[in-house]
Amino acid sequence: MPTPSRNQADRISELRNLLNKANHAYYILDTPLIEDAVFDRLYRELLELEKQNPSLITLDSPSQRLGGRPSKGFQSVKHRIPLQSLDNAFNITELNDWYSRIDKLHANNSQLVCELKIDGNAVALSYINGFLQTGATRGDGTEGEEITPNVKTIASIPLSLHLKNPPPWLEVRGEAFIPNSTFQQINALRLKEGKQIFANPRNACSGTLRQLDPRVVAARRLDFFAYTIHLPEDWEPEETEPSKPKGQWEALQWLKTAGFKVNPNTQLMNDIKAVTAFCSEWESNRHNMPYATDGVVVKIENFKIQNYVGTTNKAPRWAIALKYPAEEAPTILKKLTFQVGRTGAITPVAEFKPISLAGTLVSRATLHNAKRIADLDIHSGDTIVIRKAGEIIPEVVRVIKDLRPEETNKLFLPENCPECNSKLIQEATEAITKCTNHHCPAILRGALRHWVSKGAMNIDGFGSKLIEQLVKKNLVKSIADLYKLNKKSITNLERMGEKSGEKLLIAIKNSKNQPWHKQLYALGILHIGEANAKAIAKVFPSASKLDFSLKNSPESISKIFGIGEEILDSLQNWFNTASNQQLIINLQKEGISFASNQQEDSLEINQVTRISGDMIVITGTLESLSREQAKDMIESAGGKVTNSVSSKTTFLVAGKKSGSKYKKAQELGVKIINEKELMNLLKS
Ligand code: NAD
Repeated sequence: MPTPSRNQADRISELRNLLNKANHAYYILDTPLIEDAVFDRLYRELLELEKQNPSLITLDSPSQRLGGRPSKGFQSVKHRIPLQSLDNAFNITELNDWYSRIDKLHANNSQLVCELKIDGNAVALSYINGFLQTGATRGDGTEGEEITPNVKTIASIPLSLHLKNPPPWLEVRGEAFIPNSTFQQINALRLKEGKQIFANPRNACSGTLRQLDPRVVAARRLDFFAYTIHLPEDWEPEETEPSKPKGQWEALQWLKTAGFKVNPNTQLMNDIKAVTAFCSEWESNRHNMPYATDGVVVKIENFKIQNYVGTTNKAPRWAIALKYPAEEAPTILKKLTFQVGRTGAITPVAEFKPISLAGTLVSRATLHNAKRIADLDIHSGDTIVIRKAGEIIPEVVRVIKDLRPEETNKLFLPENCPECNSKLIQEATEAITKCTNHHCPAILRGALRHWVSKGAMNIDGFGSKLIEQLVKKNLVKSIADLYKLNKKSITNLERMGEKSGEKLLIAIKNSKNQPWHKQLYALGILHIGEANAKAIAKVFPSASKLDFSLKNSPESISKIFGIGEEILDSLQNWFNTASNQQLIINLQKEGISFASNQQEDSLEINQVTRISGDMIVITGTLESLSREQAKDMIESAGGKVTNSVSSKTTFLVAGKKSGSKYKKAQELGVKIINEKELMNLLKS
């Protein structure tokens, strides 16, 4: 047997300690230390390491024990038949692997039963001669906590079986759970009472089942789905009673007849293909359910085949739980890298061992800023938890300090720019560290990427690779240099043919005709997104007019809807910087006007030259007219004035102090005109 490496031995011991601690917090204290998905992955890592190093398996390893120990507040009860756990499959490939393994074990293909994996707590019910005798938690699988008075408060658990001639004994297993709405109510109340809230419905359920006062349990309205039966082998029902089930599907029907609630979203399948379709369907459907589910349980239908396939000491081989894709997972940090954005802001990025999250493979996640690194107290080689939900950018949410290797060092943001080595500046008001070197190649690359982007100057064919080459080869030292590129300079670049070069030059030339608001947005001024650029460009028809107002009447800019102090500061900073002024001059020399052109204006005016039949909304205070006067004039010209902005509105007349209607019009893309434009229209 190979000697275990020191690292692996350490990792096994760290994992063992952490998982034991997590089990105690989860099963006994009902306050999980880590997310379930994180627990699952770390547990699997431990199993794999123990498989490679069997000599390192200790008696107290969580792999040698099932669930939690029965807690001391309750009498313990020995289960007639042990309650096992389920093996997990974390994706469809693992589900198929499970199926191929059991397929090899038996010749006849059995049907399969798909059940939702209810995220509650297993409860064992024992009936003697048709009457509920005991209810117990799973505990360690062999012994559980006797919680009969609590179980009796659950309305969906029959106190006696609905059978005329019940078996002498019956064991029913199922899932007790708390519906989502009740879970929210419980947590809201706990919050009000200053108590710690439950992490999820499963923990709330487990805490409730182990309440010493059954009245508290009754008030929490638990529910129960039954899914397993054990009957005496030699017992046969009378002819008038439903026949003894021979498989899982029949067992579920039998349970219904006997008075139990069985989950209605259960299906009998003929093959594994149908099973995978069921699983994918429920992965999205689960969010519409009134209770939490965390996967699909797939079981072999036929009891004889189940017996033949058998069980391990922890779980049946004839069943598997396909867990829904996790949104959080642990992984090991490889290194921190630092990205320099177009504003010079430094973003730390964690690079780690790739993990699959929410259906995608993830290997990098943002750490936002220096403060976040300090708050996380991140060290080299740390085990970190990554979260990625849907389209959201992956982020590092936590460091699992219990798994920190011994020889490690704390990580910090560098003092110098990783690109140009100039000293980084920490901004006093923002949690941002910046490179302020205007010649930093990373800032230039970012500025170029923004300049050519679709919403800005829309220069097609400009990928990051091309920008990298242009900057590296010193062909572009400023945005204005883009307009100096010629056939000769670009056709020598990698992956650039004659045709694509020509196309690119045409796209560069055409970009000079982008409207003024796009030119303003393309400058990449902090906080000036597309909407703000549009609003500003509408009021100030050129960069020089905007610059003049910034210096002489900044209040005229603050009046624009959506422009607050922060944005005004950012504009002033940008226009007060000499290199930025020079950039505008250089770009103007290349033919970019930084002003609205007549064509644009006439196009805009053309769109509102007729009032007849138009639906018009007025907002704010008009200077020369009262609203009533304006309304009269519009109506005499054949237009209609309405009160609220909708997609049918032709345009909004905005006076001073415009409010929510202005915002709504912006959101809906409704044309906004000022009082002067209205007067021009009325005159025309
Ligand atoms: P499990 O929850 O992965 O699966 C087994 C359980 O599924 C059964 O015991 C049963 O209660 C339930 N179940 C729901 N629907 C079912 C159905 N239709 N048929 C059969 N069973 C069904 O395994 P487990 O052993 O109960 O618990 C281990 C899990 O608990 C871990 O996977 C982890 O997610 C969580 N856990 C978390 C922490 C933590 O720190 N966050 C600690 C310990 C355990």
